Amino acid sequence: MPSRRALLAGAAAGLGLTALPAAPVFAQAKLRYDLAPIPVLPGVWMIEGVTDYFDKVNGGAIVNCAVLQGQSGLILIDSGPSRRYGEALAATLRALDLRGVSAVVNTHHHPDHFFGNQVFADRPILALGDTLAAARRDGDAFADNMYRLLGDWMRGTEPVPPNTALDGGEVTIDGRRFATLPLSGHTEADLALVDVETGLLITGDLAFLDRAPTTPHADLAGWQQALTTLEGLGAPAVLPGHGPFDRTGASLRQTRAYLSWLEATLHDAARTGLDMVEVMDLPLPQEFAAMGAQPQEFHRSVAHLFPGVERAVLPRAN
Ligand SMILES: [Zn+2]
Repeated sequence: MPSRRALLAGAAAGLGLTALPAAPVFAQAKLRYDLAPIPVLPGVWMIEGVTDYFDKVNGGAIVNCAVLQGQSGLILIDSGPSRRYGEALAATLRALDLRGVSAVVNTHHHPDHFFGNQVFADRPILALGDTLAAARRDGDAFADNMYRLLGDWMRGTEPVPPNTALDGGEVTIDGRRFATLPLSGHTEADLALVDVETGLLITGDLAFLDRAPTTPHADLAGWQQALTTLEGLGAPAVLPGHGPFDRTGASLRQTRAYLSWLEATLHDAARTGLDMVEVMDLPLPQEFAAMGAQPQEFHRSVAHLFPGVERAVLPRAN
């Protein structure tokens, strides 16, 4: 297939313009993930993602992973967006424990949280049963989209769904105890975990901090209920799915505030009769405009959610 650049040059020639000399092709920015585990609590590390949208510079390293010391190795919560990322994780984590990763947990079935599984496929990979089914169902479609967004970063990546179903309740993984909470709202199945030893709450994408929440599979009312459950735990520290480590619960409050504002804004807009483009043009309050990946995530949320809100709010034609 001719490259986009060749097509553009051809189009320029067809218009009688002199094709400009080809712009230098930037060497695909290194294609190497620099993953640095940050110690956050005794025996607990975090790999912190950038707060942007997927692009060919960040290689999809937008997600937070938690790493906890287990008895025979490290327990990894969420495995990143690609095989290459999983390999980088495996190499980096051997510096913490030579035995490497002993078990993986996927909080939900979004590709940035489970596409590194391939590298750990011979180990237990735990998730809620509904996450397992959803990863099987949507994995290939997600892969197509991720290859489109990230190009060469994805080379060799195959979606590998989790291999062990969790029901919730107290679970011991590689000798470490977790309270596991089967919730939903960000997707159809969202697992939150409390590390019993430190009290750390690992929310998956039920909580974001200083990065706009994503809503392609969201049920906003269910998500708010899940946040109420998580707030009720009074955890001393929270590791959100995206954004910095949180020692005050700000991620739970901010996610709730954003979802409430989003829902109210979409309902008001539908009642006022705005069309989708007009809704996308609405100014964001400063506190939400300042989040990473804005206004793109707001635009995506309008595209996902506004048609449904319009149907719910507008009087029926018949
Ligand atoms: Zn997600």
